[in-house]
Amino acid sequence: MIEYHEYYADGRWRPATGATQLIQRNPTSELAQSLVTVCSPADVALAVSVARRCAPGWAQSPLDERRRALGALHRAIAKRADAFVNLLATELGVPVWVGRTMQLPMPLANLERIIEGLDQITWHEQIGNAAVAREPVGVIAAITPWNFPLHQIIAKLAGAIGAGCPTVLKPSEVAPGVARLLLEAVAEADLPPGLVNMVWGGADVGECLVASPGVDLVTFTGSTAVGRRIMVTAAASLTRVLLELGGKSASLVLEDADLDAAIPATVRRCMVNSGQTCVAQSRLLVPRKELAAVIQRVVAALAEWTPGDPTHTETRIGPLATPSQFGSVNQHIRQAITDGATLIAGGAGRAAGFERGFFVTPTAFSDVTAEMALAKNEVFGPVLAVMPYDSEADGIALANETPYGLSGGVWSTNPARAEAAARRIRAGQVILNGAPSNYGAPFGGFGQSGFGRENGRFSIEAFLEWKSMPGLTWPA
Ligand code: NAD
Repeated sequence: MIEYHEYYADGRWRPATGATQLIQRNPTSELAQSLVTVCSPADVALAVSVARRCAPGWAQSPLDERRRALGALHRAIAKRADAFVNLLATELGVPVWVGRTMQLPMPLANLERIIEGLDQITWHEQIGNAAVAREPVGVIAAITPWNFPLHQIIAKLAGAIGAGCPTVLKPSEVAPGVARLLLEAVAEADLPPGLVNMVWGGADVGECLVASPGVDLVTFTGSTAVGRRIMVTAAASLTRVLLELGGKSASLVLEDADLDAAIPATVRRCMVNSGQTCVAQSRLLVPRKELAAVIQRVVAALAEWTPGDPTHTETRIGPLATPSQFGSVNQHIRQAITDGATLIAGGAGRAAGFERGFFVTPTAFSDVTAEMALAKNEVFGPVLAVMPYDSEADGIALANETPYGLSGGVWSTNPARAEAAARRIRAGQVILNGAPSNYGAPFGGFGQSGFGRENGRFSIEAFLEWKSMPGLTWPA
């Protein structure tokens, strides 16, 4: 078993002094894989205090120094690519294919866009008699989930470095090895002591960090329920919060769409990473008259998503990450059956061929109606809901019929029609005809998917305040 007993503060590893230890299991073997000693409130206070000490100096750092720091971090992460991919497979059940094509390239691309973002921000402007500046907000508390652990940390950490802010990170307790390896990369990047710090723990340590008087802004990615709780805790001190939360995204297939392109691509966006993506297109909205053709293509597309050992290079879908994920995804499947949805593939229980491991069979339902739990609740697993609609207006209304608004897609062979539908979907991101990801563009939610934006320059701007100085004129 790998043991982690040290947290990172002021540029060095220190013994964590919390009273409890957390065990993480390999999702394929179910065997205990690592053990973490959590941080005590005193450890959290120390990490925040060293970040505070670092803040004034780094706030004054020239952009070239921030660029150098981010470049060094990029190189240190890229150098550890194979180790990250292996850890993602053993800690989280992420197939090495997903590690190599998504989980590692995403944060590296985002780091590149964040470095470019340094030159895209208007740091100083003149508004009449006022010199206006963008200034760092101060100490950042970053609390992150496990599903894309490296990507979610980098979107915050790199943005904070670029903005001139120190960070105290509390990564997910489900993926400690990935966080530990990232902090080794941070140590190698030779950043100023106190610029990046990391504490270990679960909800208690997260609460302690959010409540810390030394924190100026909390940036959180995770579930809507925990986001709500964080906002309440932060309200006591009016600490700023940015929330990237859950979703129930729709892929809206219009009448004139190319079904042979739209259906396999939507199945992929629902199933990849075992459906454990916040932007999973878990609702497939299709014209009623195309329902039979769609079902046939969904079933055919699912043939590619047969669960397997995540360490094998040919595997496309591995196990779910945790026992609680396994329990909850199965519960969603059973509920959909009880509610009367038509099961067209997969089903509840452990996937065939596995005696252990948190494997579920990729599952799809048809005839899902807006009232069913499956249409409303985030499953965070490989479960697709096919929902027929009658008119295009009904389809758009159905897409918007959730409290979330994180992502979604529109498929149409007519660009003007695709644009018109995309503009009416209330979500922070709508992907037209399966376009590839763009980490320079803003990412974040409408409604209960949270608020704030990250990636590229938006990761930096998230941590900047406006300052206006009437009576001062910037030099020409
Ligand atoms: P989670 O909300 O359970 O945990 C996220 C983090 O919050 C973890 O580090 C956890 O230890 C910490 N935490 C838990 N309780 C806390 C508390 N009371 N105070 C402070 N911190 C606390 O989420 P998860 O299970 O790790 O991740 C899955 C969820 O994350 C899904 O809902 C998914 O949609 C969402 N997510 C959103 C995005 C996005 O960008 N919008 C990206 C990925 C995941």
